[in-house]
Amino acid sequence: MAFEGLADRLQSTMKKITGKGKVSEQDVKEMTREVRLALLEADVNFKVVKDLIKRIKERAVGQEVMESLTPGQQVIKVVKEELTNLMGGEQSKIAVSDRPPTVIMMVGLQGAGKTTTTGKLANHLRKKHNRSPLLVACDVYRPAAINQLETLGQQLSMPVFSMGTEANPVDIATKAIEKAKEEYNDYVIIDTAGRLHVDTDLMDELQQIKENVKPDEIFLVVDAMTGQDAVNVAESFNEQLDITGVVLTKLDGDTRGGAALSIKAVTDKSIKFAGMGEKLDQLEPFHPERMASRILGMGDVLSLIEKAQANVDEKQAKDLEEKMRTMSFTFDDFLEQMGQVRNMGPLDELINMIPGVNKMKGLKNAQIDEKQLSQVEAIIQSMTKKERQEPGIINASRKKRIAKGSGTTVSQVNRLLKQFNEMKKMMKQMTNMQKGKKGKGFNL
Ligand code: GDP
Repeated sequence: MAFEGLADRLQSTMKKITGKGKVSEQDVKEMTREVRLALLEADVNFKVVKDLIKRIKERAVGQEVMESLTPGQQVIKVVKEELTNLMGGEQSKIAVSDRPPTVIMMVGLQGAGKTTTTGKLANHLRKKHNRSPLLVACDVYRPAAINQLETLGQQLSMPVFSMGTEANPVDIATKAIEKAKEEYNDYVIIDTAGRLHVDTDLMDELQQIKENVKPDEIFLVVDAMTGQDAVNVAESFNEQLDITGVVLTKLDGDTRGGAALSIKAVTDKSIKFAGMGEKLDQLEPFHPERMASRILGMGDVLSLIEKAQANVDEKQAKDLEEKMRTMSFTFDDFLEQMGQVRNMGPLDELINMIPGVNKMKGLKNAQIDEKQLSQVEAIIQSMTKKERQEPGIINASRKKRIAKGSGTTVSQVNRLLKQFNEMKKMMKQMTNMQKGKKGKGFNL
């Protein structure tokens, strides 16, 4: 998972302070020192770290913590809020022009994932917002890039506008917009040329396209795996083109987090989307608060629920959210979810969205195989209805019966019960922390 090292370190730092009834300046000093090292190690920009630590320190020794009834938790809240702000605070939305089509220009270095993201974005706009985009092939230097976009268009059954490699990119973009008006395409997504490095010719060409087509958005696509390089690339593109947002790709990989945490602070431009895999549906709106939650091991129940909504019917997903909030989540719900979860995506990705998972031995980083899942299912199925709803009544003899019935051992039953309890506990903690501060606007 992305940010793993950072998440581990921050979580163990936070754990030390969580339960404290009193937080001394020395505690804050130690905590911020550890947070600082963790961020630097995750390749977060030096200056960004310095400013962030200063803010955390000021707030953590300030009134809001000292006068709070639960200072330990309050400190964690401060860290979470500051991480959220660092990534842009509110989730930022995609532009809609009052005079369609809305024009989005995609820019970035070669290999960052620009063409793939063009396809993913078009897919997102159609699926989530019922839009009909036109894709435009403006990379006239690489015939392969045009073919790649055309193939994506075929996969998505979406129109692709291209004029081959002989035409001028400005003409292509201009004609594409005329065509979109004729065909009632409400979005035009322009895939521009990339280079291996930032160079003047490329920037000149992009500036010309920008001046002529006056895009509503200029999205810079950068590869999260390249860490501070991605931040430097973002800085130069922003200086020259005044981009409107960033798409951070390959967040499904083993990235340390530096780019995600530094880009907004360095460029003042928000990350709007995150690429979570090579497939066309693996693009997610970037939510700073949820990302901060995930990094701090508080899980990301909202994203989990949205995934559920895409795969499960809405009512069920709402029920689930309600249950998580009111702590009435039972083993029956757990079982039902497990059945559906298999349709929702790679399990390790989902598992990491569940609050507290990082603290559950055996689940964290688990290569969860089907056999393990079937055992969990079997254990729950061997419980009586009452036991599923009130696991507290499961005493030693019940455990024996359940183990026997499910072909497992008492210690496996114990483990599941323990994990379930911890999950509920973490949900409770998270709900308390989120009270009064729910993320706004999931409309991307
Ligand atoms: P471009 O040169 O910037 O247009 O880059 P491409 O769109 O051709 O992508 C380069 C490579 O990165 C391809 O192999 C893509 O499948 C891969 N890629 C793009 N986005 C993601 C992502 O979010 N996750 C992963 N794992 N791979 C990605």
